[in-house]
Amino acid sequence: MTQIETKNEGEDKKSLNFIEQIVEADLKAGKNGGRLSTRFPPEPNGYLHIGHAKAICIDFGIAEEFGGTCNLRFDDTNPVKEDVEYVDSIMEDIHWLGFDWGDRLYYASDYFPKLWDLAVRMIKEGKAYVDEQSSEEIARQKGTPTQPGIESPYRNRSVEENLDLFERMNKGEFEEGRFVLRAKIDMASPNMHFRDPIMYRIIKHPHHRTGTKWNVYPMYDFAHGQSDYFEGVTHSICTLEFEVHRPLYEYFVKELADDSYCPRQIEFNRLNLTYTVMSKRKLLQLVKEGLVAGWDDPRMPTICGLRRRGYTPESIKNFIQKIGYTKYDGIISVSLLEHSIREDLNKTATRVSAVLNPVKLIITNYPEGKVEYLDIENNPEDPAAGTHQIPFTRELYIERDDFMENPPKKFFRLAPDQEVRLKAAYIIKCTGVKKDADGNIEEIYCEYDPETRSGMPGSMRKVKGTLHWVSAEYSKTAEVRLYDRLFNVENPSEEKDVDFRELLNPDSLKVINDCRIEPYLAENAKPGDRFQFQRTGYFCVDPDSTDGHLVFNRTVSLKDSWEKLKSK
Ligand code: ATP
Ligand code: MG
Repeated sequence: MTQIETKNEGEDKKSLNFIEQIVEADLKAGKNGGRLSTRFPPEPNGYLHIGHAKAICIDFGIAEEFGGTCNLRFDDTNPVKEDVEYVDSIMEDIHWLGFDWGDRLYYASDYFPKLWDLAVRMIKEGKAYVDEQSSEEIARQKGTPTQPGIESPYRNRSVEENLDLFERMNKGEFEEGRFVLRAKIDMASPNMHFRDPIMYRIIKHPHHRTGTKWNVYPMYDFAHGQSDYFEGVTHSICTLEFEVHRPLYEYFVKELADDSYCPRQIEFNRLNLTYTVMSKRKLLQLVKEGLVAGWDDPRMPTICGLRRRGYTPESIKNFIQKIGYTKYDGIISVSLLEHSIREDLNKTATRVSAVLNPVKLIITNYPEGKVEYLDIENNPEDPAAGTHQIPFTRELYIERDDFMENPPKKFFRLAPDQEVRLKAAYIIKCTGVKKDADGNIEEIYCEYDPETRSGMPGSMRKVKGTLHWVSAEYSKTAEVRLYDRLFNVENPSEEKDVDFRELLNPDSLKVINDCRIEPYLAENAKPGDRFQFQRTGYFCVDPDSTDGHLVFNRTVSLKDSWEKLKSK
């Protein structure tokens, strides 16, 4: 797959995408009585991911845009894999993204009786039959796209026998796999999906809503279009892999529809992201095998994972707006998603001081016991955000990386005899260091220039570097979780010969237990709050935080690799 070119900002709003164009034209032509009704149809067999967000944004978004409605319908036709836990999480995530289905919450299982009636009618009309070959045998007879299939020896059973067997399949008289109901269409059709597709199979597993009432369950192709029809859906928007199913969708829908109303299926390209897997099966495996901490692990591409990571609904929607909807599959750089959250948080996140890897810095000419409360800007991008105060003392912490004993040229941070400004405070000059027996730096000694504080005569004096810092005495300790990409390779799904679990990045999580944070942050941070740690990145307070023990997740670092890519 190739990396997709994305639209430039500002371009997004001017033109309608191809789905909007179809909807606009259908509405203008007065189709379906001028109604617009869409649906989002998740199967409750896992948590929603960023790919689903793309589907949600078009399903709900287009309804809002053109004055229509969007249903939420759970496609709950396989009780073996489905669970109410997933139903609940899906509803929570859609709401969090900012969409609502009103009173239009439906379940495909609501239509089981109607689907059953339709199947019986099709049997009576000679359009469906019960097959008793094994699934392997049925697969063998399918043929290939260039070679016609073979008709089942059970294809011409009598209507009476078909009805009797179908009834007894549902009564639970037979084991799973013993019989299936198939549509009698055309075993020589060039479209493989027309070669007598399976309509119903036996499943003897209780369903989370209908219990043990049913022992036969409809297949996706038989349930989906009909459910759209029962709900009055006019535009059934889905991903490209269903394009080849569309003739069958239309075939089954025609069993019900007339000229006045017929749902229409439209397909768009699914979202794939670099360094990520999007298959629910694989995501479930990561959770079940404990390879991540859960569905909401901040490294997961799930909506709840992104939420915990610190993503905002706006950043996700802006990202989806940027990538757009087309007919071409491809893979989107995850750095574009990261760019979107940076863009959002840059405008809104309060800037605070936190030192991730602290080393002590002592200002030898600053009085012991003295403390000055200095004003520091909350957000230079937003003057209305105001300021807060940070205590300055003789002993501080700075980042270990911000000091080098033997620096290369153009190292504009701290080094022997070199000057830097401490953010919102004074200019300091390094006068020496203290090392332990192994040569590691334990303390850095500096002198400050008292004339260089904001508002003082020397405040305009320029030095090359500005460092963030916290007071050793007044700062508090916090836990910080640094996340990196979950996979080591750009497109894990493309590596066919390797188990995808072997492609996991072993360094995707690093925990720092002794990050030092300024008191303002320690006093104000609540779970879910987002901040910019000066010079390091955007961070979000994790729900694992307790009184006296704050936990921060790094949402993204400050370095924007997308901007770099763009300017190349
Ligand atoms: P499954 O393998 O279980 O079918 P799925 O990802 O297709 O997984 P569904 O619950 O069937 O899950 O998806 C609900 C809707 O979301 C469908 O309309 C599907 O087309 C859409 N969708 C799923 N994955 C993506 C994706 N990566 N990008 C865009 N839309 C997606
Ligand atoms: Mg699906």
